[in-house]
Amino acid sequence: MLQKVVIIGAGPAGLLLAHYLLRRRKYCVELYERRSDPRVVDASQDRTFPISLQERGRKAIRALAGLEEAIAQAGVFCNGSVMHRKQGKARKISRATPLLTIDRNRLVMILLQHLTQTYSSEQLLVKFGYQCVQVDRRAKTVTLQMGQGEAFAVAYDALVAADGARSHVRDYLAQDAGLQCEQNYVPDAYKSVFLSRLNPALGLELEHDKIHGWNRDNKTRMLMVPQPGERLNGVIIFDAQENPLSSLSTKEEVLTFFQENFPLFGQLMSQEEAEAFLHRPVGRVLTVSCARFHDGDSILLIGDAAHAVSPSIGQGCNASLEDVLIFGQLLEQYEDDWELVLPAFSEQRVPDAHALGELSNYSFPRTKTLVLEFFLRLTMSRLLHRWFPKWVKPFVFDLVLDRDLSYSQVLNLSQGWINKVKRSSPHAS
Ligand SMILES: Cc1cc2nc3c(=O)[nH]c(=O)nc-3n(C[C@H](O)[C@H](O)[C@H](O)COP(=O)(O)OP(=O)(O)OC[C@H]3O[C@@H](n4cnc5c(N)ncnc54)[C@H](O)[C@@H]3O)c2cc1C
Repeated sequence: MLQKVVIIGAGPAGLLLAHYLLRRRKYCVELYERRSDPRVVDASQDRTFPISLQERGRKAIRALAGLEEAIAQAGVFCNGSVMHRKQGKARKISRATPLLTIDRNRLVMILLQHLTQTYSSEQLLVKFGYQCVQVDRRAKTVTLQMGQGEAFAVAYDALVAADGARSHVRDYLAQDAGLQCEQNYVPDAYKSVFLSRLNPALGLELEHDKIHGWNRDNKTRMLMVPQPGERLNGVIIFDAQENPLSSLSTKEEVLTFFQENFPLFGQLMSQEEAEAFLHRPVGRVLTVSCARFHDGDSILLIGDAAHAVSPSIGQGCNASLEDVLIFGQLLEQYEDDWELVLPAFSEQRVPDAHALGELSNYSFPRTKTLVLEFFLRLTMSRLLHRWFPKWVKPFVFDLVLDRDLSYSQVLNLSQGWINKVKRSSPHAS
């Protein structure tokens, strides 16, 4: 008899886990997602942003035939970044291994399409517009609700919380099962921005294979990532306490703001985007740190629900996909005995998630002098590592992105730098 796994949340982690479970032929999966079905509703500009995937995330996707190719086709490979500025030449940072960048909602769409094309409705049920509102771990039921409609309970053999940083299932475990969990907002807020890479009238064309950044000062910056074709999607990031956008009330003011503060990007913004930007919500990032990622033999926390981090080093999604790879390996190792798999997952993954939290908070500094030191260290370590690989180790970014090391190992090797940035940070705890 198949085990019934109910997954809450059809983000990257929930969808990839459904793939991993179903291919084992021992499970049937019911997946409930609060948002609307992206195959029906155009979600292309709805709460989305570009995600960069490197080996950690990609090896989890690669395990499923054809998936990495499909994602690569819908994304863009970037082999470096360009930091633009008002005066002086733009600063270029190259990457030996290109990053695969893809819009979050497009990534979700491809994972979903592959899933529904591969498995029948007897094995897989995916329901959009359904929100998890309650859990009863003793009765092994989860309560769902569509809009303001009547709530109903669904029974499970195993329940997976893949419902993101503001996980309802995690809150329930914190209240009912003594799960220790710390949550903090990062000081930054962000708003999505959608531009064109080209402005033929001004003879402007930004490189299609580079991430484009602009630091206005140490509080406000933009990060724009090429999409297939001419699109350039990204975010403006700013201090949540000093929102520089709060006084903007017309599209003319939006255009002037970008033209004055980020002149290059301002020239690539259309009138329509300026209008849409006004109405787009401001996003806040919640970080989450839990003492364990499971409860008993039947509840698993995965992805952002277990360990949401600051996006500063682009690892949240990579780590969420890596969770799935590791969980899949443990299912294999313990022959699908969840009583053994779940604690083993917590034991292996919690230290790495905590290390990732530190790396995400403190790899990239905020003070001007440390930013200069950061780029100097990055350049020097690359040069010296090439000449003396035994003596000089790569700098923290390159260790995270290009090495097959766990986050705990990277933190260990980078502790000196992380401590230095931490000491300079007003928000450090
Ligand atoms: C601006 C920004 C840039 C980022 N850039 C990168 C990057 O470059 N690289 C990288 O690796 N990561 C990046 N991240 C992080 C990445 O987006 C997340 O780590 C990743 O999306 C986590 O996937 P997930 O499936 O765990 O959670 P989510 O993507 O949050 O998905 C959770 C899903 O659960 C649903 N849900 C929530 N509550 C309920 C409920 N009660 N009932 C039913 N459904 C529910 C939500 O609607 C959502 O669809 C970035 C994040 C931000 C904000």
